Amino acid sequence: MSKHDCYSCAAPNSMHPFKGRSFNVNFKQMNRMVHSLNGYECAECAEIEFDAPSAERYARAGDELIEDAKQVMADEMKRIRRKLHFTQKSAVQLLSGGGHNAFSRYERAEVEPPKPLFVLMRLLDRHPELVRELQAINECTDINALLVQKQQQRHE
Ligand SMILES: [Zn+2]
Repeated sequence: MSKHDCYSCAAPNSMHPFKGRSFNVNFKQMNRMVHSLNGYECAECAEIEFDAPSAERYARAGDELIEDAKQVMADEMKRIRRKLHFTQKSAVQLLSGGGHNAFSRYERAEVEPPKPLFVLMRLLDRHPELVRELQAINECTDINALLVQKQQQRHE
């Protein structure tokens, strides 16, 4: 391994070899480390260039992370829904709206849950006592009271 010019910033002889370093792959906020990677790093701009086997391992680790992350999210959606004693149908009615089979699709990792829904599920996992608020929230008594105010303002 010898020095060569940087493909990114074109600094001459700036690519220095490295061996056995660890790099992070990430997907959304999920990440994992890939170890023992070899390649070159630019002394000027910090551009990284892996050698061919390391580039392949790094790319594969990224693909595996995405696949695993999608499955973990799907499994979490199912685990939390069951813990809260919701059917897929009642979960749609109380939490997500949308198509009647939305939760089924999330739980089969067919589509990723929207971030606000995934955050809400994880909050309810930590605070399942909040489930009892859902009925009231869905009845919209508070929102309807605000609507009455709006109507009154409109006719003032
Ligand atoms: Zn560079």
